Amino acid sequence: MPPTEKERPFEKILIAGAGPAGLLLALMLSQHGIPSLVLEAWDRLDERLRATQYGVPATRIFRRAGLLKDFREAGIPTFPYICWRNVKDSRKKLIGIDLSTTKDEEDRMTVLPLNMILQIMYKHCIERGNGLIDIRFNHKVTNVGQDGSKAWADVEVGRPGTVPTQLRFEADYVIGCDGGSSVVRKCLFGRDWPGETFDCKLMVQNVFYDGFDKHGWDGGNYMIDEEHFGLIAKRGKAGTNGNLWRVTYGDAGGFSDEEYIARRPEAFKRLLPGSPEPSDYTITDTNQFRIHNRCVDKMRVGRILLAADAAHVCNPFGGYGCMSAVLDAGGLADCLIGYYEGWADESILDLYAEIRRQKFVDYVDRRSRKNFYRISRTDANTALETDPFLGLLKDIEGDKERTRQFLMKWSSIEYDFTQHYRKDKKERSKI
Ligand SMILES: Cc1cc2nc3c(=O)[nH]c(=O)nc-3n(C[C@H](O)[C@H](O)[C@H](O)COP(=O)(O)OP(=O)(O)OC[C@H]3O[C@@H](n4cnc5c(N)ncnc54)[C@H](O)[C@@H]3O)c2cc1C
Repeated sequence: MPPTEKERPFEKILIAGAGPAGLLLALMLSQHGIPSLVLEAWDRLDERLRATQYGVPATRIFRRAGLLKDFREAGIPTFPYICWRNVKDSRKKLIGIDLSTTKDEEDRMTVLPLNMILQIMYKHCIERGNGLIDIRFNHKVTNVGQDGSKAWADVEVGRPGTVPTQLRFEADYVIGCDGGSSVVRKCLFGRDWPGETFDCKLMVQNVFYDGFDKHGWDGGNYMIDEEHFGLIAKRGKAGTNGNLWRVTYGDAGGFSDEEYIARRPEAFKRLLPGSPEPSDYTITDTNQFRIHNRCVDKMRVGRILLAADAAHVCNPFGGYGCMSAVLDAGGLADCLIGYYEGWADESILDLYAEIRRQKFVDYVDRRSRKNFYRISRTDANTALETDPFLGLLKDIEGDKERTRQFLMKWSSIEYDFTQHYRKDKKERSKI
């Protein structure tokens, strides 16, 4: 039974940032009658070339949030395989994992560019949010604060190029889902964000090139090379934009944006099959990123909580960033819902903050670093013998059932917070 108005322990959540974490959190809360105000600094949803693949743990949450059907319809069904290649040895395939073994699994990996994920999430917030989600663009959070009974965000409101109006919005809790440059995090901890920024630049581009097909490439291809490591993955759907690929590679630090663009043809020649010249391919979009592995010491300070990139970031190799964002949002939604509905008390928010942070430190940080070092600091000629993960793939190669089990297994980065709900309904009346 939902709580009566009198029983409700809180009324409203304020979420900074309409990225995947913010929109997903708002959507999941709305399904349990919890209103939220989502403040987004930009005048639109993020369109940059970032995440494209989300592992099984994230997919399970997408399904719970009722998003999966639309994601599947918009994306490619799944990769046939992901493989690792030796760039210096003519990009020879070293080992792969057969993802087609999961093709009948509902919760198999999701493959869809983040901008499309966001558009679908936004549509669901509007159409399925029970009128409880108020998303406001051109609302840039500049400061947050709290006292014993409420939290607030100070906000600059206005379109780009206009003089902004200053407003204050109040709520019971403020959740910082405002990404890696989080203002909410800076308000809590200043510039203190333990971890490191890697000395390299990540070049990301959408590319049309028929050489991939000609050379029999498909799926996802991790490129092992100390100079230009990366991930080259198919993005297009057969029959529509089948030749569209996402080429992501690392270049040394220290150059200007223009110099990175000037160095790109040489990198493409090295990485792409057929060693193409610029006239052989078309680049439609491009973005440059610095990469980091960092995590805050605390994800909750009173009525202000952090989730996803606002709290912790990792390099993108292995697809742990958005996956962690989704797990944070899903976990925090379960905690707030449990508290709101009387199945848990407020201390469940501390559990969220401690457990999700520890999951990042113990697993996401370590594994994403290993993924990064595997392609950027490993001798590709001996990687099959020296790298335990590639060795494991070699061990299960050709065994469809073991491969399927490996891909679908419960991951240690997941956590079910509903196990902390009170089981006895009578307990509810004590809150
Ligand atoms: C090249 C690249 C490839 C990647 N590939 C993958 C992948 O394949 N799989 C994967 O799982 N992850 C991947 N990631 C990581 C993933 O994109 C991020 O982890 C994810 O987007 C984090 O989501 P978020 O909601 O925390 O933050 P964001 O996506 O950054 O969203 C934050 C939102 O908050 C808004 N905002 C910022 N400041 C304010 C403010 N002051 N007030 C109001 N709003 C504000 C922003 O405009 C933005 O809309 C990749 C990242 C990069 C750079």
